[in-house]
This record gives sequence, C-alpha cells and structure tokens, in this order.
Amino acid sequence: MSRSYDVVVIGAGPAGYIAAIRAAQHGMTVACIDEWKNFDGKNAFGGTCLNAGCIPSKALLESSELYHRAQHEFKKHGITTGAVGIDVAAMQKRRASIVRQLTGGIAGLFKANKVDGLVGHGKLLAGGKVEFTPVDGEAEVIDAAHVILASGSAPIELPIAPFDGEHIVDSWSAIEFDAVPQRLGVIGAGVIGLEIGSVWSRLGAEVTIIEAMDDFLFMADRDVAAVAAKDFKKQGLDIKLGAKMTGAEVGKKGVTVAYEDKSGSHSLEVDKLIVAVGRRPFTDGLLAEDSGIALDERGFIIVDEECRTRVKGVYAVGDCVRGAMLAHKASEEGVMVADLIAGELAEVNYDVIPSVIYTAPEIAWVGKTEAEVKASGRPYKTGAFPFAANGRAKALEQVSGMVKIIAAADDDEILGVHIVGPMAGELISEAVLALEFSASTEDLQRTIHAHPSLAEAVHEAALAADKRALNYVNR
Ligand SMILES: Cc1cc2nc3c(=O)[nH]c(=O)nc-3n(C[C@H](O)[C@H](O)[C@H](O)COP(=O)(O)OP(=O)(O)OC[C@H]3O[C@@H](n4cnc5c(N)ncnc54)[C@H](O)[C@@H]3O)c2cc1C
Repeated sequence: MSRSYDVVVIGAGPAGYIAAIRAAQHGMTVACIDEWKNFDGKNAFGGTCLNAGCIPSKALLESSELYHRAQHEFKKHGITTGAVGIDVAAMQKRRASIVRQLTGGIAGLFKANKVDGLVGHGKLLAGGKVEFTPVDGEAEVIDAAHVILASGSAPIELPIAPFDGEHIVDSWSAIEFDAVPQRLGVIGAGVIGLEIGSVWSRLGAEVTIIEAMDDFLFMADRDVAAVAAKDFKKQGLDIKLGAKMTGAEVGKKGVTVAYEDKSGSHSLEVDKLIVAVGRRPFTDGLLAEDSGIALDERGFIIVDEECRTRVKGVYAVGDCVRGAMLAHKASEEGVMVADLIAGELAEVNYDVIPSVIYTAPEIAWVGKTEAEVKASGRPYKTGAFPFAANGRAKALEQVSGMVKIIAAADDDEILGVHIVGPMAGELISEAVLALEFSASTEDLQRTIHAHPSLAEAVHEAALAADKRALNYVNR
C-alpha cells in the first residue's frame, strides 16, 4: 500500500518548508520533498534563499562591509590598525558555516514538527498523487489529500552569454568565488546584481555593471534611487545605464563583453562576468503531462489570489507563481495556503510587501512610490528626513540617505515609505506595520521613538509630512 499524507509539499525553500511546518502545526500529516544539491554534492533543505541567495549573499555583504569600514572609517573613530587584509577562504568558510547551520536547522524543525523531509525529486501526477524519487532509490507514488507546489525559480540564462561556471556565471557561483576577481562585469543593475557587485567591489574588484534600462532602480522612488546612485558611484561601482550587452566571448584572459548604448558600440574586458538579469519560474520535471496544472506565457504556475491552481486540492506558492520573487512573500503564501487547507480564513496582503536591497547604504521601501501616487491622481503630501540630521547615524558614521514618507493629503493615510541609509532593511518593518494597519502620519508622529535611534528618522519624516519636523528645518 502506498504512503499517504494530508499534505505533500514539493520544494523546501522558504515557501515550501514554511508551508509544511505550518500545516503540521495544524495537526495534519505532512511530507516535504526537496532535491536541492549544493556544490559539495550534499543535499540541503532551504532552497535558493538559504543555500544560494538571501543568506549567503548577506553573509558576504557583512564581511565586505566590515572590511570597507575598517579601511575607510576606523581612522575617523580614532582606531588605528596595521594594514587591513582579507582572507577570502576564511570569509567563504564563515558564509558556508552560516548556510550549513540554517539549512541543518530546517531538518531539525521538520523533525520537531513531525514533517517527513524527503530528499529527492517530486512530480505531481493526476488525481492527487505525487511521485517521489529518492536521491538513491526507486520511485514511489504517494497519496496526498492536498499538494503544495513550491518549486521556486532559477537564474535566467542568456543565449549570447551562456553560463560556463568559470568565466560567465550566475549569482550562486558569484557568491562562491574563491578569490577576488580583478575586473568584474555584471549584467543587470537589479537587486542581485547590485548586491553581489558591491560585495566584490568592496573587496577590491574593479566592477562594471551594464544595465539596459535608462533609469537606475526604476522600481524604487526616484529620490531614493538618486541618493543610491550617487553613493554607489562614490564607492567606485561603474554603472552603465541604457547599455545593452550584445555579446560575450570567453578567451584566455577572461571575457570580452560587447555592449551598445546611445553613444555607440563598446567592449569591456573582464576576468569574470556575472549575468544577473532576473530569474524564471522553475517547473522542470515537476508536472506530469496529465497533472492538469496550467502555466502562463512566462512559465509561472497559474494561481488565484489564494494560490489555488486549477486542480482541486493543488496549490502553488513562492517564486513559481506570479508576484514579487522574494523569500518573505513566498513564506507568507506558504502560511496562507496551510491555513486555508486547515479551514481557516487567511490572506496575503500583496500591497504591503517590503523590498530591501542590502547594499551600503541599504535601500528599502513599502507601498507606493511618489510617481505611482501622483499617477493615481490622489492628492498627497511628502515628508523627508536626512540621516545627516540623526544623532545615531552620526555616531555610526553613516549619514548618507534619508527617510521619505508619502501620505494622502485628504485623510493622512501613509501610502509609501522609502528609505536609503543605514539599517534601512530593519527600519522598514515599522513602515510595513504602519501600512498594514492603515496608519496615518499622525499615528507615527505621536508614537514615541527611542532616542538616539535611527528610527527617529522615520518619526521625523512623518512629522515633516505636516511641516512639523523638530530636528530639521521644514521646507
Ligand atoms: C543571490 C540572491 C539573493 C537573494 N536575496 C534575497 C533577499 O535578500 N531577500 C529576499 O526576500 N529574497 C531574496 N532572494 C530571492 C529568494 O531567494 C527567493 O524569492 C526565494 O528563495 C523563493 O522561495 P521559494 O521557496 O519559492 O523557492 P526556492 O527557494 O527556489 O526553493 C525551491 C526548492 O524547490 C526544490 N525543487 C524544485 N523542483 C523540485 C522537484 N520537482 N522536486 C523536488 N524539489 C524541487 C528546489 O531544489 C529548491 O530547493 C535572493 C535570490 C538570490 C538568487
């Protein structure tokens, strides 16, 4: 007789493993299947996020930032050191150890929550059945009352610059470089390109980023993007906007990248080229032909607002479905679906999903940009406060950037909060909560913020929306 579960999840990234744990917490029997294999040949739960994305990139961002600060800021603090050097092997060892601890932690969480973590390939068959092929065993068919597809995404590969794992690489390989490339090219000035480009730039690489769009960080508020562009330039990142790669040739000395912009055709010599032009939904080998699941024209699994597919009892969550490709969005969809299966009311508020770029300074936002509010026609007001006027930022020696709040002129509701500056990724949580509860700027104005703290800049930006900033001249 075949095994059966209340819920079978395919994929143990932040969408799948969270869905599995939540479903188990509801008292359901749950299996979570995952086939992820790391470069060392070992399988691990956690998907892209823990193994190749969010976590390892942030581990390196932190190391490279400390190196940068030791070189450029310690002196101002009155700290003298000998020559500051880097040991990439030790840095990478730390990164790998963090990944190992967190991915191993998921196996522990599965055990504690009585989720069967199955290592191998999962395939949705017709009629609520899943075929599970263990890494080293025979395929078996599992009965599932409910199936959650959480197969994630993969980097987009360009035919003119195919990945070779050595010279032309994706973001995962770029996180695992064992030495600092002297000259590094990055295709794409999106979140991933900027984060990884700035890691290697701070560690000493000469980095050129080629971006097809004319606007820098087109998805961010213009004021915030302008501050970030200036800071990145100061840090030495050479970002070429409105530039389109037309070819990439691997030679003995590296890669020759051809690109075009308004001024004509150019070529660039680099030792390594990272192609970070986005990610595509990954559904290879996931669906039997008669599974009944439909994909849209871009390959995303079609789902409704509640992540239901067209097949009864089958849901899909995370990067393999429409919407922001972010770990926290993926996890919230996992929670929602597990709750729905358990018969509870649940939803994801797609209007209030924070975005964070973990560069230095960090960039974070939630809600609408000023351009979006303007286009909506709703009368609005804005308030901004620079970190240069914030005591904690001064103490941290990180005064670049600001907090900007956009609120409705009629009822004062906060519509968007945009931050560029120190710890923006942490500060944005207050704004997320404010938007989730439809708070007004007055709510933030009358909320006591600890002094001295970076969060006071959020408080002051809310005050500035009514020209009541107290530590800055109102304009
Ligand atoms: C360099 C980088 C940095 C990033 N930084 C951030 C960040 O700071 N913050 C953020 O929010 N997001 C970040 N992301 C995005 C984030 O990683 C994804 O949004 C998130 O991992 C999506 O989660 P998921 O569970 O949908 O998919 P994934 O994490 O991709 O997990 C899917 C899992 O399913 C498995 N799988 C697929 N098909 C099958 C099958 N048929 N059988 C068995 N297993 C299968 C895969 O092996 C994988 O383990 C980053 C991404 C990258 C690449």
